[in-house]
Amino acid sequence: MNKVYDLIIAGGGASGLTAALYAARNGYDFIVIDPAPPAGSSAALADEVDNYTGFSNISGFELMQKFYAHAKELGTQFVKDEVQNIEKSDGIFTVGCAKKNYRAKTVIFCAGASHKNLGVSGEEEFAGKGVSYCAVCDGFFFKDKVVTVVGGGNTAVSDALYLSKICRRVFLVHRRSKLKAERILVKELEKTNNTDIIYNNEVIQILGESSVNSVRLKDGRKLKTDGVFVAVGLAPRSLPVKKIVTLDNNGYIVADESCKTSTDGLFAAGDIRTKRLRQIITACCDGANAVLSADEYLEKQ
Ligand SMILES: Cc1cc2nc3c(=O)[nH]c(=O)nc-3n(C[C@H](O)[C@H](O)[C@H](O)COP(=O)(O)OP(=O)(O)OC[C@H]3O[C@@H](n4cnc5c(N)ncnc54)[C@H](O)[C@@H]3O)c2cc1C
Repeated sequence: MNKVYDLIIAGGGASGLTAALYAARNGYDFIVIDPAPPAGSSAALADEVDNYTGFSNISGFELMQKFYAHAKELGTQFVKDEVQNIEKSDGIFTVGCAKKNYRAKTVIFCAGASHKNLGVSGEEEFAGKGVSYCAVCDGFFFKDKVVTVVGGGNTAVSDALYLSKICRRVFLVHRRSKLKAERILVKELEKTNNTDIIYNNEVIQILGESSVNSVRLKDGRKLKTDGVFVAVGLAPRSLPVKKIVTLDNNGYIVADESCKTSTDGLFAAGDIRTKRLRQIITACCDGANAVLSADEYLEKQ
């Protein structure tokens, strides 16, 4: 039988790396499991982060590298593996990974969330050939071209704004009559002169030959476009724990600020839990709170 750690942190992004700081300072015997820290963090995709206190003009990747270096400096041990399944038996968690299994008294699960698909014809066929899920990563390939962003939340509006600086023309297609994004972002977008917001409509088909050349809208119109950026929300990566914790209808782990889940000793931090605002700063708060909750749990054992 392999050793039993005090704590396993599953996910080495914003919340996991912050949890690692607190766990290291508490003197825990712990590991962080992540296939690719810190590059796997969704924050690492942010071209520029200017809402994390104390930093301005920093790229998401550089910020995450700072988080990673800080955790390492305090002695955090990283295991490059992917968590596939977590079980609890006789008070001990078995964290089943792609390469090996690990055991611990407590687990902080913080694997984040990934993008949702649009689910329309042509999406899969043209993925990487005009269909993208990351404006910051792929926007450059559409320099001086026409692109269509699909969605209405913060990500969609940020993507449209970002692309308006690179592309000739940007369409933002939103299925409702009002954007859900923060007002400040919407105002910024309205100031651009190469962006058209198409309300009450949907992209129902993505068309092209060797790459995307147009999209079909719900109202029957065909919109000429060189690229489609899908920004229709997040899918929490809660599969490894879905059998042992309560999830909400969208697959998020039900947990409040204490990060406690329906399973004692298992804590959920960051984008993966039910919360109002999914950002780096709120993920960090969760990382710290989750360790405090793990500490209280271990004290009681
Ligand atoms: C393009 C983009 C731009 C953004 N810009 C900003 C911004 O400007 N400001 C801001 O505050 N927020 C921004 N965000 C949101 C921010 O990135 C997230 O809210 C934050 O990173 C959430 O932290 P987290 O720890 O929950 O998840 P993440 O930081 O995404 O970390 C999750 C980690 O879990 C790992 N992982 C995944 N699956 C497994 C598994 N099965 N086993 C083990 N490890 C796993 C991943 O490799 C990753 O390292 C942006 C997000 C995106 C996508």
